[in-house]
Amino acid sequence: MSVLRKSSVFVLCAALSLLSVILPARAQDKIHIVASFSILGDFVRNVGGERVAVTTLVGPNGDAHVYTPSPTDAKKIADAKLVVVNGLGFEGWLPRLVKSSGGKATVVTATQGIAPRKLDSHEDPHAWQSVANAKLYVANIRDALAKADPAGANAYKANAEAYLAKLAVLDNDVKAAVASIPKARRKVISTHDAFGYFAAAYGIEFIAPQGVSTDSEPSAKDIAVIITQLKLSKIPAVFLENIADPRLMRRIAAETGAKIGGTLYSDSLTAENGDAPTYIDMVRHNIKALTSALTS
Ligand SMILES: [Zn+2]
Repeated sequence: MSVLRKSSVFVLCAALSLLSVILPARAQDKIHIVASFSILGDFVRNVGGERVAVTTLVGPNGDAHVYTPSPTDAKKIADAKLVVVNGLGFEGWLPRLVKSSGGKATVVTATQGIAPRKLDSHEDPHAWQSVANAKLYVANIRDALAKADPAGANAYKANAEAYLAKLAVLDNDVKAAVASIPKARRKVISTHDAFGYFAAAYGIEFIAPQGVSTDSEPSAKDIAVIITQLKLSKIPAVFLENIADPRLMRRIAAETGAKIGGTLYSDSLTAENGDAPTYIDMVRHNIKALTSALTS
C-alpha cells in the first residue's frame, strides 16, 4: 500500500513538473512591456507572443501627438521592463512620464536606423506607413526583446521571422494595388501630413492642410491654398482620418466637388471590432480605400 502511495506521489510530481514545462508562462512570469501607441503594441505582440504582456498607452483611435498621460500610465511604466516608443518627435509627452514613473524600464526606440523624412525643421514621425520601415521596427523590437529576455531569444527570432514574411507579402500587395491606379489619378488629400513615407514608398501623392503633427489647426490661408490646388490639379478624392475631426475635410470636399473616399487609418488602430484592429488590417484597409476611390 505504502509503495503504491509513494509511486502515485511520484507520478503526480512528474505530471506536475511536465505540466509546468508545457504550459505557457503564468501571467506574473511574463515580460511586461509598455508600447506608446496601438501600432507599436501590435508589433510587440507579434514578436513577443506568449512570453510578453503588452500594454499600450494611447489606445484605439487615439491621437498620440496630443496625448495627456494619466497617473495610471506612470504606474504602467513603473511596472514595465521595456517601454517601446516611436521616437522622431511623436511622443513629446513621454520622456517626462518615464522620468516621473521612477521605474527602471529600458526605453527602446523602434525607429532606430530609419532615415527620417524631414519637413522644414520637423522630423516626420509616421515612418510606420511604409511597410519596409515597419520591418525595421520589427527587427528593432526583436533585438530589444532578446536582450531583455535572453531565454526567449529563439522564440522572438522565430516569431519575428513569421511576421516579417507576412509584411513582405503585404508590401508587395500594396505595390501591386498602386500599380492598378492610373498614374494621373495617384493623388489625394488627407487631414494631416501622416502619409509622407507611404507616398515616398508607393508613389501616391498626399496633400494635407495640417502638418506632421495635429497639435495646431490649419490656418484659413492653408485651407484656401489646398482648395485652389484641389481645383487646379483635379485631385479626385478627399480622405477623412480616424484620429481627426471630419468637418474640415467635408467642407473642402463640398467646396471643390471632390468626393470623400472614406477614412484612412493614419496614427492609430481601431478596437477589435473595427476596420483596422492590427497593422496589417490597417494597411490593407487604407490601400483598398485608396484604390477604390482612385480607380472608379
Ligand atoms: Zn500623425
